[in-house]
Amino acid sequence: MREVCFILIQDSILRVYLGSATSIPDSRERWEIIWKHRDEITEIVHSHPGEFLDFSHEDRTTIEAVEAGTGKVFTWSIVTKSGFLSRRVNLDTDREDSPWWLGLMRSLSYGERRARQSHAKRKNSERKDSTL
Ligand SMILES: [Zn+2]
Repeated sequence: MREVCFILIQDSILRVYLGSATSIPDSRERWEIIWKHRDEITEIVHSHPGEFLDFSHEDRTTIEAVEAGTGKVFTWSIVTKSGFLSRRVNLDTDREDSPWWLGLMRSLSYGERRARQSHAKRKNSERKDSTL
């Protein structure tokens, strides 16, 4: 298990960051990306492998710092294995929608080796078919 962060422009992933089981280290590159794309970025999402479906103290200070620094308001979201929560201007919303990247974030955060193996097998059989 590990924390994963996506920076989104609408439905597209601008950047993916992979952290440890408990955190994603601050990086200068991430701040620079957010600054550079501050007019396009719509949502910043990260997973909580520990199933804590709320914003931690660190999350809240990061939100304040990023929004104060950029002068922009973003949607901030937390993804757990079964939960999905968004915050925008201090208003929290339980998300009922399932954007395409939600499953990707969960598989990167929680791992789905079995699914990956069957995908590899399918690829192999396709390859065999094409050589016949
Ligand atoms: Zn967090």
